[in-house]
Amino acid sequence: ETCAPLAVLGHDVQVPLAGGGKVGYAALDYAASSPALQRVWDDVAAYAPYYGSVHRGAGYLSQLSTDLFEQSRLTVEEFLDLREGDQVVFTRATTDSLNLLAAAVPAGTRVFAFETEHHASLLPWAHAGLSVTYLRAPRSHAEAVAALDAALAAAPEGPRLLCVTGASNVTGELWPVADLTATAHRHGARVVLDAAQLVPHHRVSVAELDVDWIAFSGHKIYAPFGAGVLAGRADWLDAAEPYLAGGGATRTVARETDGSVAVEWRTGPARHEAGSPNVIGAYAIASACRALSEAGFDALEAREQALIARLKAGLAEIPQVRVLSLFGPVSARVGVLSFVVQGWNSSHFSAALSAEYGIGVRDGLFCAHPLVRTLLNDEAPAVVSTCGAPDPSLPGERSLNAIRVSFGAGTPDEHIDRFLTA
Ligand code: PMP
Repeated sequence: ETCAPLAVLGHDVQVPLAGGGKVGYAALDYAASSPALQRVWDDVAAYAPYYGSVHRGAGYLSQLSTDLFEQSRLTVEEFLDLREGDQVVFTRATTDSLNLLAAAVPAGTRVFAFETEHHASLLPWAHAGLSVTYLRAPRSHAEAVAALDAALAAAPEGPRLLCVTGASNVTGELWPVADLTATAHRHGARVVLDAAQLVPHHRVSVAELDVDWIAFSGHKIYAPFGAGVLAGRADWLDAAEPYLAGGGATRTVARETDGSVAVEWRTGPARHEAGSPNVIGAYAIASACRALSEAGFDALEAREQALIARLKAGLAEIPQVRVLSLFGPVSARVGVLSFVVQGWNSSHFSAALSAEYGIGVRDGLFCAHPLVRTLLNDEAPAVVSTCGAPDPSLPGERSLNAIRVSFGAGTPDEHIDRFLTA
């Protein structure tokens, strides 16, 4: 059973076309930021008059806002199917969540990450001074699991953490999260799941996947108000230094007789949420969680898979198009797909999609430089990297970037069809 596209903002915006006339915006860049759900926007607007400071006021609106903020935490808890004792920390987005965790892991932890990760899940670990083992790009799920198994077996004793993505922001391909997690746990390693591209498309159960932490961004699940989530095990988070020092994270602060200031930090989410919390961001995320759950992930996924099939079938008929893939043509994916076009510079191609058809895609290396370079090295046809009319017969350089089309719960068939026509 599929469903109708969910109502989102932005599709009615009229885009002026280079050849004259206007057309409704075709948002095919959900992987960067998805459009806001109308439902999320309405919920936020309905709450706006009741907005007040969270955890910092005795007034009625402060009480309401505090309740709403804490209820939003519970909604996220339920949405992610967390375990007893897990906690939800509201952050700014996935990048912030993973940097928070990197700052919180015990000293001496060795981190394992595939070089194919988004920079947000690849870079925070070394940046926080941790040792990192970067695993080479695997070409199958089995290879990924075997590579992790071997690396963990060879690693010195001590605390370990695997950071892995649920769905690639470049190819859209799903990663074997449950198998990687079981392997990691067998070797005493914990796992954090970068679910930035998974949560918008799939029902995710932390309890079933058994990952220790999960991170995602509100603006990629139709809730563009500057909030994100880090959720999972409380022990490392409670034992760590607070991510930010400031109000709300403290239980007591007192001046000592020797002139110093003694701080007793809170435990629980408040420990890492210093400063006035983003209540609208958290509420918007909770609203999106409710909207997606009510629409039903079975129906949303059925619809999205139909769009993916339509897109892949259409692209397969265009011989100049090469779809990028790590795990091969049959691999399961979410509504994210990158490709290069023989004879075209990807930036010019994307600019033409916008100017001539009102279609918004992204071109580039998608904050996953090692992955895109790997994919382009083995897949890319030669392209002509000049402006002007493409001429596939000319010798050219390899493409240095790719084009990404990505979509989700709000995408009508017409956007995919317009893209294929373009
Ligand atoms: N991980 C993945 C897989 C992503 O796609 C992104 C965003 N492109 C991020 C992490 C970072 O998310 P944010 O920019 O919201 O912090």
